[in-house]
Amino acid sequence: KFKDNGLLEQITLSEDGLVPAVVQDAISKEVLMLAYMNKESLRLSLESGQTWFWSRSRNELWNKGATSGHTQQIQSLAYDCDGDTLLVKVLQQGPACHTGAYSCFYREAEPADAAQTATAQGEQSDRFGPLSRLETTIAQRDAERPEGAYTTYLFNKGVEKIVKKIGEESAEVIIAAMKRDAAELQGEAADLIFHLMVLLREQGIPFDNVLQELEFRHRKPIKKD
Ligand code: AMP
Ligand code: ZN
Ligand code: ZN
Ligand code: ZN
Repeated sequence: KFKDNGLLEQITLSEDGLVPAVVQDAISKEVLMLAYMNKESLRLSLESGQTWFWSRSRNELWNKGATSGHTQQIQSLAYDCDGDTLLVKVLQQGPACHTGAYSCFYREAEPADAAQTATAQGEQSDRFGPLSRLETTIAQRDAERPEGAYTTYLFNKGVEKIVKKIGEESAEVIIAAMKRDAAELQGEAADLIFHLMVLLREQGIPFDNVLQELEFRHRKPIKKD
């Protein structure tokens, strides 16, 4: 829930009284959907801490998740430089899209060549891109629960199964390391990281928080013990 310290006056509405709101997953940072708010839905959103929009097709106020249960708890609401766009960071319950997809933006323009795909996905520019994509895929599986997916199985089983897997994968990492088997160790390290990422998602912890923790420690003076 938010204070109304004149925020509504800072927002420029279009001729039809609307302002586009980009909705982002506060945990994975994925863009989930775009919808429109009018003064009333913006007021209701700030007051309730849940997203309210104006449906242009149905011509009515719309509390996201009221029928589907796929609600959005607002973590922050920002407006851009010229006050004509909102950015709403939410804790998303289930899929954000009415099709059952985690994000509305599950379709994309096909790149002309494969090299461009690699660049677009950050494979060349960002060495840790795979980690960030993994976090998004895990969030997607959590929201959509596709049948037959191993991640779905883990989420359905719950925290006990996930921590048990982390125990197993840790033991496998240790065994591989003691054998000095690099190929095996790489594989087991990947297994461990994957299950750890699933656990973080299950506990609602953004991977950014873990990165921040590492950064924070890095800045501390070194202590010998
Ligand atoms: P909900 O608010 O999730 O209970 O969904 C109610 C109705 O709102 C759906 O049947 C859709 O027509 C519409 N809707 C829900 N989510 C979206 C979305 N992400 N984008 C566009 N329309 C949506
Ligand atoms: Zn703008
Ligand atoms: Zn959608
Ligand atoms: Zn393993």
